[in-house]
Amino acid sequence: MNLLAFQAKFPDEAACENHLIQVRWPEGFICGHCQSQAAWYIQSRRTFQCKQCRRQESITANTMFHRSRTALQEWFLAIYLVCESKKGISGLALARHLGMKDERRAYTLKGHIQNAMTERNNRYLLEGFVEVDEAFFGGKTHGQGTGSVGKTAVLVAVSVNEQDTPDFVRFKVIDNTKGDTVEAAVKTLIAASCHVVTDGHTSHNHFSEIFQEHIPCTLERPEQSREYLPWVHILISNAKRFILGTHHSVQHLQNYLEEFSWRFNRRFGNLFDRMLISALNYRPADRLA
Ligand SMILES: [Zn+2]
Repeated sequence: MNLLAFQAKFPDEAACENHLIQVRWPEGFICGHCQSQAAWYIQSRRTFQCKQCRRQESITANTMFHRSRTALQEWFLAIYLVCESKKGISGLALARHLGMKDERRAYTLKGHIQNAMTERNNRYLLEGFVEVDEAFFGGKTHGQGTGSVGKTAVLVAVSVNEQDTPDFVRFKVIDNTKGDTVEAAVKTLIAASCHVVTDGHTSHNHFSEIFQEHIPCTLERPEQSREYLPWVHILISNAKRFILGTHHSVQHLQNYLEEFSWRFNRRFGNLFDRMLISALNYRPADRLA
């Protein structure tokens, strides 16, 4: 959806409200208390009232938009800009596009969108055949080796399908590349039923006990890792480009990597509606913008 189409689709709050209701209740409103489908809609309060049990339910209750002072139109545009820009968007650019004088508000919106993406990413473990490697982000050069001073270690996992193309990617910032650390992290990304391909580094020594199968491709030359683990390396370079191109910082590296992987893992869908679904299923712990 291009920007003109987006603006034509959501010209005002009512249009945003209607779309939110459609995405939240695709089969029509269902009362969360008694499951009745008969309800009145009270527009002024953005609330359904069940005709059977009389309970009221706000259309934004228990979602990212819960008790938000930000208009849905602003939220929708922020979501559109974050999701549709392939290279991501900085908080500063977001503030400019939204016409926000106080850029902290834009950073807050973006923070909530990223948290909703993270929450969604964490619901799934990678399955099937998975390439795993460690990468180092930050610093002046981007080596793949261990012991890179001043860089942040990241565990990267990519599930690859029968057509030898990638399905899904996950990243996890880790304190170091020692066996214990890598093992603890890898369990949070990959299902135990997986067949896992690695470069046979010592930090993967216990992978055969964690996963159904561990396929270590012990390398004679470092450049061979691109042959045995092609997708993990392509996604590492793409993620590095994404981060350098937009954010110029690895300070919030995990958040950026969550944003990158959320977008990659949904690249064939309607990103805006997929983000609305993620937002409707996410309730921030802290106060909203
Ligand atoms: Zn009811």
